[in-house]
Amino acid sequence: MSTDQAIIQKEVSCRVVNSVLKYAQTRGISLDRLVEGLPFPYTKEYLSNPLNWVTPEISELICDRAAEITGDRAIMSKVGMAIPLIRPLGGLDTSVRKLAGPSMVYRLLPTYTRFFNTTFRIKPNITGKTTATIEIFGPRGNAPSKNTCYLIQGILAAIPALWNLPAAEVRKTCCAHDPENLDEVSPSPRNSCVFDVQWQPKPLAPEFLCV
Ligand SMILES: [Zn+2]
Repeated sequence: MSTDQAIIQKEVSCRVVNSVLKYAQTRGISLDRLVEGLPFPYTKEYLSNPLNWVTPEISELICDRAAEITGDRAIMSKVGMAIPLIRPLGGLDTSVRKLAGPSMVYRLLPTYTRFFNTTFRIKPNITGKTTATIEIFGPRGNAPSKNTCYLIQGILAAIPALWNLPAAEVRKTCCAHDPENLDEVSPSPRNSCVFDVQWQPKPLAPEFLCV
């Protein structure tokens, strides 16, 4: 069977894995160490194709290896932050950039996360012109994985970069697996992770400025 014929459930997209691989390249990390010993069909080539999919176990294993190699348990937040720069998504960022601005992306996160990972849910609540509260839930009522939590945290910060705006400020107010490491005290333990996001507004286009 060729890798093209492998039938993999659409659970975690290689957009996630390719983000890790491309980020690892920028850090000079050996890709062979990340993919060593993985079962068929998970070759470097397969995992680098954003249109392929992997099981959550394979995705977690690669993310955990990246954390272990770098000694940084929050490495996935840096991967998320780097996405506008390393462009690992197979053109998805180009279509997102056509939206009016960051607010619309945060609002449409449930649509876009389906291209990344179908095993968790995301609930955005736009609380102001430049503020939102984003909650993520794991599969079947479980907590989202640590790596998913960090990746989403990084992506939330990186979204304004699509319009060359500064990174959004992201404060984690509730974390299902890391409740001691919060920017604010969690109101109550839940099976979800919650982020407060604030971004800079897009400057008005010149034709709208009064001169
Ligand atoms: Zn969390």
